[in-house]
Amino acid sequence: MNADVISIYKNKIAEKNGGQEKRGRIDIEGVSIIFGSGADENIAVTETSLTINPGEFVCILGPSGCGKSTLLNSIAGYVTPSSGTVLVDDDEVAGPGPDRGMVFQQYSLFPWKTVLENIAFGPKLAGCSPDECSSIANTFLAMIGLTKIANTFPGELSGGMQQRVGIARALANYPRVLLMDEPFGALDAQTRIMMQESLLNIWAEFGITVVFVTHDVDEAIFLADRILVMSASPGSVIADLKVNLERPRKPELATSHDFVELKKQCLGYIRAESLKAFEQVGA
Ligand code: ADP
Ligand code: MG
Repeated sequence: MNADVISIYKNKIAEKNGGQEKRGRIDIEGVSIIFGSGADENIAVTETSLTINPGEFVCILGPSGCGKSTLLNSIAGYVTPSSGTVLVDDDEVAGPGPDRGMVFQQYSLFPWKTVLENIAFGPKLAGCSPDECSSIANTFLAMIGLTKIANTFPGELSGGMQQRVGIARALANYPRVLLMDEPFGALDAQTRIMMQESLLNIWAEFGITVVFVTHDVDEAIFLADRILVMSASPGSVIADLKVNLERPRKPELATSHDFVELKKQCLGYIRAESLKAFEQVGA
């Protein structure tokens, strides 16, 4: 990876923070998130408290509908907790901000903008000059190895390429935290593994905090330092599992004893929670 990218990135962060040591710590304190009211009340997240340390790679794992996206969106600032607070580097989250980059499952690139323009969007909003924007965008495009497609429109790209552009676009805002909501969920198995390895490389180089939502146990174990398992609705964190597997992670790891043991443990939680969710819907 281009060393200049890292130094531009680090300098920009330092500049933004006025020299302060803000490195992407997340504190979720007594957060409940309730949608609707009366008979339509839906408790998506209940009484959740946890801390994510700077530079940590945390996966939020749980069955469909358990509140993973809602919890992630509360860190992103798209959803306001009904009670409790979310803090990023001691500042209460009051809305979306460039300190937190977001990558969704569905490709959320602007289809009418070229790849380069998509990546330059954040820097442009932040008031960078056209030259600066194009230099930042080109640097991040090179980082993801897609310089050749700078002037292509998203609709002409494969799903994997679109997600690479999505990651580059999020990083070009110089965030301290990268929030990812099932970003590889729509990709084929082979592309998915390559994307996971590429994401781990970026994370290792950047030292950025990553919060990654998935319902895929293998994906969570392969990526994470720590897995937060969520319960079926109303969602809360029922297990906080440390993943002590060596890095850099290689796909062969999936057959190792430690991986398989952790997988059994996660599957046990997920199965119990999925059954609960299934029964709730059936009731
Ligand atoms: P997951 O990401 O784990 O699949 P979500 O966080 O999307 O789960 O949803 C958790 C619960 O909150 C679900 O019951 C869902 O229907 C509900 N929910 C999510 N977003 C909204 C919303 N904007 N308005 C109303 N209900 C919502
Ligand atoms: Mg979701």
